[in-house]
Amino acid sequence: MSGEEVCSHVKVVVRVRPLNTKETDGNFKKVVHVVDNHMLIFDPKEEEVTFFRGQRVGNRDVRKRANKDLKFVFDHVFGEDSSQVDVFESTTKGVVDGVLNGYNCTVFAYGATGAGKTHTMLGSSDDPGVMYLTMKELYNRMDLIKEEKVFDMAFSYLEVYNEQIRDLLANSGPLAVREDGAKGVVVQGLTLHQVLKVALTFLIHYTHSLPFIRVLASPLPSSSLSEQIYLRQQDKTASLNPNVRVAKMSLIDLAGSERASATNAKGARLREGANINRSLLALGNVINTLADPKSKKTHIPYRDSKLTRLLKDSLGGNCRTVMIANVSPSSYSYEDTHNTLKYANRAKEIKSTLKSNVVSLDSHIGQYAVICEKQKAEVRTY
Ligand code: ADP
Ligand code: MG
Repeated sequence: MSGEEVCSHVKVVVRVRPLNTKETDGNFKKVVHVVDNHMLIFDPKEEEVTFFRGQRVGNRDVRKRANKDLKFVFDHVFGEDSSQVDVFESTTKGVVDGVLNGYNCTVFAYGATGAGKTHTMLGSSDDPGVMYLTMKELYNRMDLIKEEKVFDMAFSYLEVYNEQIRDLLANSGPLAVREDGAKGVVVQGLTLHQVLKVALTFLIHYTHSLPFIRVLASPLPSSSLSEQIYLRQQDKTASLNPNVRVAKMSLIDLAGSERASATNAKGARLREGANINRSLLALGNVINTLADPKSKKTHIPYRDSKLTRLLKDSLGGNCRTVMIANVSPSSYSYEDTHNTLKYANRAKEIKSTLKSNVVSLDSHIGQYAVICEKQKAEVRTY
């Protein structure tokens, strides 16, 4: 495999959702102040808000404030009135280029339950989110260059719940993850589907029903959901040995990040909580190791949970990554919001070295070339 090498940081953005009725009716104070497109202040003092609105009142100069860690800077901060399209355009739209150039890409939404992850990733039929807008953009972009290139695109949709992986587009039992030298991370038995019209993708997302595809029960509320898009492209005009570019894009709506210990669960619920916690703790440990400039990165603890095993080729390494941290603006979720902001702040340090997955048709190697070839035999076209 060969290709251009680029160094990239994980792009980290924060989206603040509007207050909900419980927060408004309960008179909870706002603890997130969006300063501009890049900065927010957590739990600001009154003077700070005034200062950052361009005017300084009061006696204190906020620049001297000791708690500097409460000011956070990200690649982008989306305020309460940001639209789905705003979020898409400043996050995922940029990595669609990467996918078309043969780079693996991952976009994941992180945050406590109720912070806006599913709204951001899936959205609703009236206001579709990143998953739908990304598919639509990919179809539009492929259409623009269809005279020059041939594309194969397929996708899968899975759920990680209670340390088990389930295919949401097929009626199967728990699936195993394994690593394969040539193919990378593979979920055994996961079905790949080809949908030629974006309208059909839309149906899967919003009604969870599509003729011919048997979709299991709706995803469970405390699961992590991942949609994977596999793209293979080849020049139409190329000479005898045309290059093939292959890429995988993962769009992930993670389980709520609140700590399991915060719930007084027992039995099966406790196990579920511990397992959600295990996956998210493991994700936190992976992020910490990848982000730590002192770590030699010889042991990155991907194997500690199903989620991190699944993300092994989608976090750090050869991948462009966007993290969307979702938060509520209300003091009702004070701890969760603070934890999410600290977590997001650490993720900014992750660097990855990217290589586009250019494979020669002669050799037929490469993670997704193999999957894409195999998929031709397995795919069901609608
Ligand atoms: P999560 O998936 O993080 O648990 P949801 O996305 O389900 O949270 O959001 C909780 C509620 O808040 C939902 O009713 C959702 O529609 C609403 N919501 C979340 N983010 C926004 C937003 N940016 N604008 C409007 N409503 C939102
Ligand atoms: Mg959700």
